Amino acid sequence: MTSKKQTSCADYYEPDAISVEDAKKIIFAEISPIEGSQKLALRNCLNRFLAEDINSPIDVPSHTNSAMDGYAIAAGDLPTSAEKIYQVSVTAFAGKPIIETYSSGRLIRIMTGAIMPKGTDTVIMQEMAEKNDDNTITIKAEHKAGQNVRHPGEDIQKGSQLLSAGKHITAADLGILASLGIGELRVFRKPRVAFFSTGDELRSIGDIRGATLKEGEIYDSNRYTLYAMLKNLHVDIIDMGIICDTQEAVREAFVSASEMADIVITSGGVSVGEADYIKPTLKELGDTHFWKIAMKPGRPLTFGTLTSNKGNHSQFFGLPGNPVAVMVTFMQFVQPAIHYLASGHVHSPITLQAICTDKIYKRSGRTEFQRGIFNQTADGKLAVKRTGKQGSGILTSMSLANCFIYLSRESTGVKEGEIVEIIPFSGAI
Ligand code: AMP
Ligand code: MG
Repeated sequence: MTSKKQTSCADYYEPDAISVEDAKKIIFAEISPIEGSQKLALRNCLNRFLAEDINSPIDVPSHTNSAMDGYAIAAGDLPTSAEKIYQVSVTAFAGKPIIETYSSGRLIRIMTGAIMPKGTDTVIMQEMAEKNDDNTITIKAEHKAGQNVRHPGEDIQKGSQLLSAGKHITAADLGILASLGIGELRVFRKPRVAFFSTGDELRSIGDIRGATLKEGEIYDSNRYTLYAMLKNLHVDIIDMGIICDTQEAVREAFVSASEMADIVITSGGVSVGEADYIKPTLKELGDTHFWKIAMKPGRPLTFGTLTSNKGNHSQFFGLPGNPVAVMVTFMQFVQPAIHYLASGHVHSPITLQAICTDKIYKRSGRTEFQRGIFNQTADGKLAVKRTGKQGSGILTSMSLANCFIYLSRESTGVKEGEIVEIIPFSGAI
């Protein structure tokens, strides 16, 4: 569906609005990754970022062992042309090394993970051996020397660098580290992120005053979306509630947030309205790096640095008030900033190409992040359509969407069937 909007050219070409790309460069240049670290038990390190390189203290596997349940043999004893009958002697179990040495013609029964007995170097899979009676088996001439044996260091070599500082610690990493016997890790401390909503019209759910909304009041939803997005990033969250639209209240909130947090996020109050106190307060208590981006939604995004009374610096993101703009600007700017702060690594989101099944109206001058639903067609291609109305207050568009349809600043719209770039939301694929 295409909707024509009444827009003036002035909406699209704003000389003081910087590009999305330049905004990201400025943000990364201003942020210094966290240096403080702590030692934690392995299980508590999930979703944290490594603060040290990990070299393996051992070979994994640590000994030559069988990859199958079967029979251990010396390769030189394998049948070469016709099948052969063998005696079966003792059994080697995982974790219970045996002292017996292989003697020609007498196979050793072996279980997966058991150390290869002296004199053997090859394992015949149980299913490939024909059992004649309790003591003898027949084997065909189809086996290769050295088969079904795992060698020391085959997975991980002693001394090799396995994980490097800044790595996001996943379930697989916990398993790898446990396989090396590493029970503790040094990880970077978590970023502390403080956030609050601004607006005299806002009421908190659960608050007595918010039980019944008066005319013109709305529930504060941004604090819930922000809380959820921050929770997914595993940071320390400081929810400062709703701050009313007065210069004093905003100043006080800025002062206490900058004392507590590495990153301060606000929503609302960044436009040029008479109740918009964010920009003047940032000017008073810190530096403004930019305050307008040539993008939609999210144009009045303010980014700066706050300096607390104690001299601490925290990065400030003044997000717009509109709920969709909050999510888009968070995902585009705040999330990569937090990731960089936490890990020292710049994470670039994956973009995919999809056939757009809608016609999209757009003028050049602003980058747009329209909400889309993509899926895979019967012939394996990706197709995307819009979620419907794209207003920056329509939060259901974000709930329905599984991707952004990215329209560059230069784009002048999309014809039905044209290829577009999409940015899947994390977890969408
Ligand atoms: P502002 O940027 O403060 O002018 O707000 C822009 C729009 O977003 C207004 O319609 C506000 O009522 C709305 N808005 C601001 N903050 C919130 C919030 N925390 N939750 C829901 N809507 C909000
Ligand atoms: Mg407001």
